[in-house]
Amino acid sequence: MNRAVAEINLNAIESNLKFIKGKTNAQVLAVVKADAYGHGLIPISKSVIEAGADWLGTALLEEAITLRENGIKVPIIAWLTPCGEDFKSAINLNIDLSISSLEVLNEIIDSSTQLGKKPRLHIEIDTGMSRGGVGDDWDSFVVEVSKLVKEDKISLVGVWSHFARADEPLEKMNSQQLSIFTDRVTKLINSGIKPEFLHMANSAAALTFKDSHKNIIRWGIGLYGLSPDVNYIGDSISIGLKPAMKLKAKLNLVKKVKAGSTVGYGATAVVNEDTKLGVVTLGYADGIPRNANNLAGVFACGKRAPLIGRVSMDQFVVNLGIESLAKTGDEVIVFGAGNDGEYTIDEWAKACGTINYEIVTRIGPRVPRIYTRE
Ligand SMILES: *Cc1c(COP(=O)(O)O)cnc(C)c1O
Repeated sequence: MNRAVAEINLNAIESNLKFIKGKTNAQVLAVVKADAYGHGLIPISKSVIEAGADWLGTALLEEAITLRENGIKVPIIAWLTPCGEDFKSAINLNIDLSISSLEVLNEIIDSSTQLGKKPRLHIEIDTGMSRGGVGDDWDSFVVEVSKLVKEDKISLVGVWSHFARADEPLEKMNSQQLSIFTDRVTKLINSGIKPEFLHMANSAAALTFKDSHKNIIRWGIGLYGLSPDVNYIGDSISIGLKPAMKLKAKLNLVKKVKAGSTVGYGATAVVNEDTKLGVVTLGYADGIPRNANNLAGVFACGKRAPLIGRVSMDQFVVNLGIESLAKTGDEVIVFGAGNDGEYTIDEWAKACGTINYEIVTRIGPRVPRIYTRE
């Protein structure tokens, strides 16, 4: 093994896709933005298509173009496309684009007019997130769009929105957002335009809010076997999901130190008794958050060894304990599904004051991904 690898279990990915397929009548869009949440864009995309994903979704247009260049034929939406993007390639490659502004819409129309080919568009509606999406100028936007549809200049494939608090299923904001969405869609339909697809649900809503499923659900974090919110929705196991990423590294060095020794930059940690420390070959340059605390660590030689001291750029130190049989050169598990006692991604997230999404997405390109079927 290299000094570190992220092992991705494709059986887990496929199981997580089939899991949600079995719980909805909607089509399933597998969200593969950000290198498939750090799991690897192309292998994950091929695997989910095999398992029955109807759509793929990316944030960036480059990500969608890479999918097409790798021979992927299913419908793809790219939903973060500012002015100045390569809309001609998008149209040529049958990549669906999301629009929230007339500025972007006009650029897309310029490109499509030059190409003589209609763009496939999804309008995003802002129903309360105040991020992307058409806001209060919906009525005038509808006038523009209906004109373009009637002139046969665009295919209006979908209308969509995004929840701000779907990970808190009891919040009334969720149903409020859904009803704003429904009202705006009704206005569009009343203007004589019927989009083929409506979509609003992310993983949290897919799991907890069936009324929001509409025709497509956008299955992101759940695909990777992680919970959208451990507190409100439960952990992976209780939902029935299988975490797909296992991060492994090596002990670059195991050494004994005396009670009172300080560890790492800033000498922020002190060992209370004679112990063995292990130096792990991963650091913040690889995506291990620098602010991780000792609620995280590694699984070494059958035991948990908590992190001690600050994470450095390329390495961090764990306290193995004086009895540990771990030795220089050993492989350790940084995180995994937790089945063998290793720390989970959720535990790492907690130890870093963040969410599981960020832990997996940050794992950088220095860490090779390898694919297994456990
Ligand atoms: C990232 C993203 C999703 C997926 O969200 P999860 O919580 O990971 O399921 C869905 N829709 C949009 C627009 C997104 O940006």
